[in-house]
Amino acid sequence: MEGKIFNQKKIVIASHNKGKIIEIRDLLKPLKIEILAANNFNLKEPIENGSSFEENALIKSSYVSKITGIPSLSDDSGICFSDLNNEPGVFSARWAGKTKNFNSAMIKINNSIRKIKNPSYDCFFVCALSLCWPDGSNVTVSGKIEGKFSWPPKGKYGFGYDPIFRPLDYDDTFAEMQPELKHSISHRAVAFKKLIDSCFPSLKNV
Ligand code: IMP
Repeated sequence: MEGKIFNQKKIVIASHNKGKIIEIRDLLKPLKIEILAANNFNLKEPIENGSSFEENALIKSSYVSKITGIPSLSDDSGICFSDLNNEPGVFSARWAGKTKNFNSAMIKINNSIRKIKNPSYDCFFVCALSLCWPDGSNVTVSGKIEGKFSWPPKGKYGFGYDPIFRPLDYDDTFAEMQPELKHSISHRAVAFKKLIDSCFPSLKNV
């Protein structure tokens, strides 16, 4: 993906997910630009029918930038378990149902993994970030972090599947870590570093 320097005064985060909005705001803070979210515009959510995180991220960023006329940054992310053929993957949000009940989604994952003979417990989070301008040009990148499934759920920080994900080389789940530590090593941080290289060089040394 070609780079394109971002030199606008405003950006819209194309997400209704509070956890993601908090993390992305945190990552963008040093830019000192106006950061809006999709709910400032009363937008519907587009249908995410892509087959990859990158495709879904671009569906969201292009939809929001086209309607608002402001460059838009989207995040499409999820967790993949090797023992479950990399499910839930792009369906990570949908496994929590309409009520976004991540406790039941985590129980569903535990029940599915318990049925596997000799599970590896290997898993990874993926985050695709897509920055799209109103003319449709975009930079779309992704990041990954490997870890192990951890049961029972532990920790009070973060969101979604954080309580059952323990990154390799760490003793704590994402939800037990201080948010600053998660934000510095996460799949979102890895993707964000790539986006900074392509679009926000002024953030490189911040
Ligand atoms: P979507 O990208 O909006 O389709 O949703 C992805 C889903 O993956 C979220 O609702 C979360 O449940 C999960 N997810 C993505 N990133 C994280 C993370 O950093 N921690 C925990 N769960 C995450």
